[in-house]
Formats: sequence, C-alpha cells, structure tokens
Amino acid sequence: MHDVAIYSRRVILPKEVVEATIFIQEGKIIEIRKGSLTHPIKNLVDAGNHVVMPGIIDPHVHINEPGRTEWEGFETGTLAALNGGITCIADMPLNSSPVTTTVKALKEKIESTKNKLHAKCFFWGGIVPGNEEEIEPLINAGVRGFKAFLTHSGIDDFPNVTEEDLRKAMPIIAQHHLPLLVHCELESNFDFKSGNPRSYNNYLQSRPDKWEHDAIKLMIKLCKEFNCKVHIVHLSSAQSLPLVAEAKSQNLPLTCETAPHYLYFNAENIKDGHTLFKCAPPIRNQKNIDSLWEALQSGLIDFIATDHSPCLPSMKNMETGNFMTAWGGISSLQFSLPVVWTAGRQHQATLNDICHWLCEEPAKLLRLENKNGKIETGFDADLVIWNPEEEFKITKDIIKHRHKETPYLNETLNGVIKEVYIGGQKKF
Ligand SMILES: [Zn+2]
Repeated sequence: MHDVAIYSRRVILPKEVVEATIFIQEGKIIEIRKGSLTHPIKNLVDAGNHVVMPGIIDPHVHINEPGRTEWEGFETGTLAALNGGITCIADMPLNSSPVTTTVKALKEKIESTKNKLHAKCFFWGGIVPGNEEEIEPLINAGVRGFKAFLTHSGIDDFPNVTEEDLRKAMPIIAQHHLPLLVHCELESNFDFKSGNPRSYNNYLQSRPDKWEHDAIKLMIKLCKEFNCKVHIVHLSSAQSLPLVAEAKSQNLPLTCETAPHYLYFNAENIKDGHTLFKCAPPIRNQKNIDSLWEALQSGLIDFIATDHSPCLPSMKNMETGNFMTAWGGISSLQFSLPVVWTAGRQHQATLNDICHWLCEEPAKLLRLENKNGKIETGFDADLVIWNPEEEFKITKDIIKHRHKETPYLNETLNGVIKEVYIGGQKKF
C-alpha cells in the first residue's frame, strides 16, 4: 500500500513526458502507472498539468560553512536549494574555513550541518599541494571525489596545484574510481590588469579562452595517462570543445559541466562596473553561448551545475565597480531551473533535456545514478512539481540565499516551483 501518490499529465520519464501516477512508499517510488486517473486513489496529490520531474541535483555549490558562514551557510544555502527544486547538493571543499583538505576539516564541516539541512548534501574533498596523505582517509570518510584548481582559487588557504602535484594525487584517486573535479584555467603571460578596472571587456580579456584551453589540454593528457576520471567544472569557452570531443571520442573518462550564467547572460550586455557578473572563467560572448548550447545538445557538455559562489556583498565592489579586485562568484542556487529553462527554450531545449542536464547526468558524477536523478521504480521519491509556462520576477523578498545580491535580480523567468518532495515527504 502506498503512502502518497502524485498524478500529473506531464511526468518526465527518462525519454518521454507522460500522463502518469507515481506511487510512493517509505520514501521510494514503488510504481509508475501510466495513463489517466480512472478510480479514486488514496492520499493523491493531483498536480494536473504541472510538470513532475526528479529533484534537481547540483554537484557544484559553495556553502562556505564553517568559517565563512557570513557568506552563506548550510541553513540558508539548502533552503534556497529546496525553494529552487534542488533536492541534493554537493558542497565544494572551499570557501569554508578550514577548507576540506583533511579528514579533520571534513568532520568539522559535517558537524556544522547538524539540524540545518533542507536538502541532501554530499561533500567534495580538496587537493592542494602536499595533501596526498589525506586522499584515502577522506575517501573513507565519505567524500564523493576531489576538487583542484590550476589557477589561484580566490582564497589563499586553498592553493592551486601544479602538474607535479596532480601526478602524485591522480593515481590514488584513480585507484578508487572517483572523479577529480578541476577548475580549468592555466595562466599564461597576459597583462590586461593595467587597463580600466571597471571595464568588463578588460576583465574578459584578462582571462582569455587560451587559459581554459591550455588547462583542459593538460587535464586530458593526465586523464589519459592515469586513467583517472576528470570532470571539468564550469566550462565557459567553446574554443575548448574540440579538445573535449577528441577526448570523448577516445572514450577517456572525461566529463564536463557548464553553469547557468554562461548560458543565460552574454558579455555584450554586461555594463562596465557591474561586478555582480564577475565570475571565473568569465561570461563570454553570444556566439560562444550558442556553441555551449549546441554542446549540451550533442552531449559534449554533460550537464549544468550552478557554481553558486556567494560572498559578503561588500566584496563585490559594487560602489567602485572594480572588476579586478571584486570577488569572482555568482549567487544563483535557487534559480537554476527557471534560468536554464528560460534560456533553454530559446535554444530548442525540451523538458526531457532539462531533466537530463539538471538531474540525470549530475547524479552520475555523485554515483547516485542507481537511486536518484530519474523517476523510476525503486528510486528515491525526490520530486519537484513546477509550472514551466508560468512567469515570475526575481525580487529580493523571494531570495533565500543569505545575501540577495545576484545578477539575476529583477529578471523575469519562466518556471515556477510549486512543490518539492524529498523521500516522499513534502518539504516545500
Ligand atoms: Zn566553484
């Protein structure tokens, strides 16, 4: 006997959208009955024409607690996630303090989540120069994989690695079949920092496509050499896509994600001094964006994750508009679904595509593909009910992030979240 049943004319199954009733018992989906409602069903939620989709999985979130909870914390971060239809996140090893590069720090972080989580939460460990000894203990303590930077991470307590450091870490990670997530920018001698610091174009030029290209090239080489799973986070430059295509054609264990802001905004429309748009790598031009959408459609880019990376509002330099010294990170967790859907519709994305990019593929990176990311019998009953046709405007009063500063403020988007279930329990 089921505990609750959810009916909709638009249930997103892996390859189709169908009229169906989902039966849930003890937190799991026990049956998907296709077709219309023919007789009364106990404890029925009738979602009508609203879409029922698996809960969104966001494997790239910076919560910053403990240590920088004034930037964002588990309470506010996961509440924002829940309000956005995200039922599972994975927290990055920075910008908390301490950073998650030791088991001791991981334990402190897990401790700091107590009684604060509104969504499921997993953790990535960090690779920094010299912490190879911590890799296996961190795996045993439950991290789902590791994150490393090839350029300055933005905080001094999480230094970037060199090829030499990766040569020590990757064989160990590969042995455990876990992914190494890499921020792919490799600095070369460009000096645009002397230009007008308020100019967006100057900022864009200061982190050229070449940086991403060189970093991705290096990571593909190491991926092949060590047969270590490599995941490129927030790919922003379409110029690197041929490298990804080549690696994938060789069946290397390489995956990549892009972020909603690289798909929604374009450099042409970012005004000088508007530092809320600063992120690294930077938001590029419209032609580049169109190529990223094509790469999602072709599967070169596997999925979309927010890279929600908030900070104190003062760190965004909104008064001076100085791009060069402003914090690089965009606050966006709560709005990934409507942003991706609103922009995606203009690029022929279907509801199934959205589900593929926000649920199904990210589940694989976290090794949750056998119980999350799809509406399937036996899977966790983590579900979001939303209306793709309804519009809303992002106003400060609806933002659940700790700080309301985001480049999405005042944007009008399609896709309103109606209800969210985690383990069959209505949480929103
Ligand atoms: Zn990030």
